[in-house]
Amino acid sequence: MKTLFQYRCSECNHPYERAEVRYLCPVCANKNKPNEPLHGVLEVVFPASINKIDTRNFRELIAAFTPLETEYYPKLPVGNTPFHPAKRLGNYFEYANLWIKNDGLNPSGSLKDRASWLLVGEANRLGIDTIVAASTGNAASALAAVAAAEGKRAIIFVPESAPRGKLLQMLLCGAQVIPVQGTYDDAFAISLAYTNSYPGLNRNTAYHPLTIEGKKTAGLEIYFQNQCRIPDAIVIPVGDGVILRGIYKAFADLLLHGIIDHLPRLIGIQAEGSAAIHRFVVSGKYTSVEHPHTVADSIAVSTPSNAFLAYDAIQKTNGCTIVVSDEEILSAQAILASHSGVFAEPAAATTVAAIPYLSKQANLDKSTQIVLLITGHGLKDPAPALARITVPAAVKTLDEAVARIVTDTESRGNRS
Ligand SMILES: *Cc1c(COP(=O)(O)O)cnc(C)c1O
Ligand SMILES: [Zn+2]
Repeated sequence: MKTLFQYRCSECNHPYERAEVRYLCPVCANKNKPNEPLHGVLEVVFPASINKIDTRNFRELIAAFTPLETEYYPKLPVGNTPFHPAKRLGNYFEYANLWIKNDGLNPSGSLKDRASWLLVGEANRLGIDTIVAASTGNAASALAAVAAAEGKRAIIFVPESAPRGKLLQMLLCGAQVIPVQGTYDDAFAISLAYTNSYPGLNRNTAYHPLTIEGKKTAGLEIYFQNQCRIPDAIVIPVGDGVILRGIYKAFADLLLHGIIDHLPRLIGIQAEGSAAIHRFVVSGKYTSVEHPHTVADSIAVSTPSNAFLAYDAIQKTNGCTIVVSDEEILSAQAILASHSGVFAEPAAATTVAAIPYLSKQANLDKSTQIVLLITGHGLKDPAPALARITVPAAVKTLDEAVARIVTDTESRGNRS
């Protein structure tokens, strides 16, 4: 069945047919300058006829709101990740209704699989066999994985500082990996220059409109897994701001088509050393972060490509942004693991680091339903967590073991 939709420029509102454009609005893109968020990001608009779908049928609704014909879907299963209460974590922070959406359990271990999946599907539709991306690490390992399963070529530009675990994933999946001197923003610029002159579909986040639509599926799943109810707030780590916009788009689509009657509040979390979108939200004025630095490598961005639409999503959902320090992120990573069993990478652990600020800064009551979006798996980059752990020395005898266990239990105190 043919999927019907149009693109619309998020800036000048000009509508485009699907075959007319590929990346940005050709008019507004003329405004683009280095060190500024992207102008002319396109958004998908579904026709009113979508209202005929059975809204209680999860598969049908997700397919209707996915702007790609099912025949082009990549075969690698992505998404449908667990959504569950986090009772002990909630007790720890005295929040009664805390939930986890665990997107670290995607095939390559991050939410980025969703965008790469849709982009590889789009390449199937267009008959293109090479996909190009710039990435802090996860978008690239996601692309490498989906491309490998689909038999496509992935060309990947990453900052040379990308964590080795992520580089390993890309290389093992057979991608062509090109480390770039400098930051993620430098890799982004080179990848755009590359697809301007050489063949290949560019998968850069926000630059290709389907990246937002791919990430959107996490929001649609949250709605269904929550029994078609809208959580009070969703807490989302923010780098380029595409995940946040994607989650917004999920609920905005449902609202526009009369399936829900209000939006959840979106709380965007940034690292102290990489907080361009937070500064924008607080001051109303956009400035880039000159030298982003944070242990949460996945959200280290100088110029967030989707800052304008992330800002808009925060405003429209009565949301807010919160910043957390590296120290808070690393300690949150351990609290999350030891109180929920979920090992998240530092970027994803920012959601937990932000919990102590939710009541004051986001005005969230302790009984409200709050969903933490865990965007990436901790094993992707174990180095920061390893550095804070002492691996116990080996014992020889049972007595030594027993002595160790008693001390260990006492040191951990009450485990309720
Ligand atoms: C990419 C990423 C983010 C941030 O997503 P943006 O769309 O860049 O805001 C957060 N967490 C993880 C694990 C990621 O890989
Ligand atoms: Zn435009």
